[in-house]
Amino acid sequence: MHLRKRILVTGGSGFVGSHLCERLLAEGHEVLCVDNFFTGTRGNVEALRRNPRFELLRHDVTFPLYVEVDEIYNLACPASPVHYQHDPVQTIKTSVHGAINMLGLAKRTGAVIFQASTSEVYGDPEIHPQPESYWGHVNPIGPRSCYDEGKRCAEALFFAYRLQHGLKIKVGRLFNTYGPRMHPGDGRVVSNFIVQALRGRPLTVYGDGEQTRSFCYIDDFLDLLALFMRTPDDVTGPMNMGNPGEFTMRELAECVIDLAGSSSVIEHRPLPADDPRQRRPDISVARSLGWEPKVPLREGLARTIAYFDRLLASDDGPAVCGGGSLFL
Ligand code: NAD
Ligand code: UDP
Repeated sequence: MHLRKRILVTGGSGFVGSHLCERLLAEGHEVLCVDNFFTGTRGNVEALRRNPRFELLRHDVTFPLYVEVDEIYNLACPASPVHYQHDPVQTIKTSVHGAINMLGLAKRTGAVIFQASTSEVYGDPEIHPQPESYWGHVNPIGPRSCYDEGKRCAEALFFAYRLQHGLKIKVGRLFNTYGPRMHPGDGRVVSNFIVQALRGRPLTVYGDGEQTRSFCYIDDFLDLLALFMRTPDDVTGPMNMGNPGEFTMRELAECVIDLAGSSSVIEHRPLPADDPRQRRPDISVARSLGWEPKVPLREGLARTIAYFDRLLASDDGPAVCGGGSLFL
């Protein structure tokens, strides 16, 4: 039995945030979900709004927020390359000003604060798999830098606030996380491939498709997050949060076509600039907390395909399902 806490989730109506809000409510906590609805939707948290312990506030984290909370999960930030590159200045402000505002809030309230950092801090890695001790290989002025450097600066801020003000911080580096409630027009590879396969359209594999990623199912991520938040104050991370299974984008495309029972073919498109060649977390630190990912890629994909299948068949599904950008 946990003590009831007042918990703030920024970016709470996005993909990861909505699952987190749901889990925190199920544990009996009060949840304040803050979001500017840039990539998240009210629909993601619609079912939670019936719960009297849930509150939804439209707010942009680049502006200060004055609330009383015991715990903060700072997730606000677009995660899809299509979206974070749409307005790169706002992406940097969200990561940097957002972190400053949320850290200021944690400082005043004494709240424990989690930062959703990313494998992007490793850039196009020269060390494989990537341990937390690796400093990364990031282009500071490329198309991905608004996100990569924004998140790196946020990590620096978290550790500076801990050093200077003794804040209770937890920094997690998420590797590609997927599952139901990803937006069908989000532009990330898992949602793109699934929507394309279900609609019988070609799967758009960028480049030769030999680049790799490691995909973590949302439930596994949430299990690790819960363990991380229960660690003593001196356990700050940064900690890799991901599944070490590594797949090429070609393998992912073939797997999605197979699981969806689709007749789609693969179509190659140009590789975006600075697209990392490989990604795989060293998860020794996460394992030391007693965690192990449980959901294999095929199983997680099957669950996600089932979700998108229902969504596309529903009344409001097809209107938003381009398999491309939310803005197209
Ligand atoms: P998402 O785009 O679905 O969710 C992000 C949420 O943040 C959205 O609801 C969006 O509207 C909100 N948001 C964006 N800018 C905001 C602002 N200025 N103020 C308030 N809200 C704002 O993405 P996600 O996959 O749920 O990612 C959640 C977090 O996890 C992000 O910080 C992301 O960088 C990090 N992350 C995710 C992954 C992944 O694979 N899902 C990988 C690495 C890191
Ligand atoms: N990708 C792809 N087809 C798509 C979308 C993405 O081949 O329709 C590739 C992309 O080039 C990258 C990988 O899939 O190599 C993961 O892309 P995503 O945008 O999901 O996230 P990233 O890990 O690059 O931030």
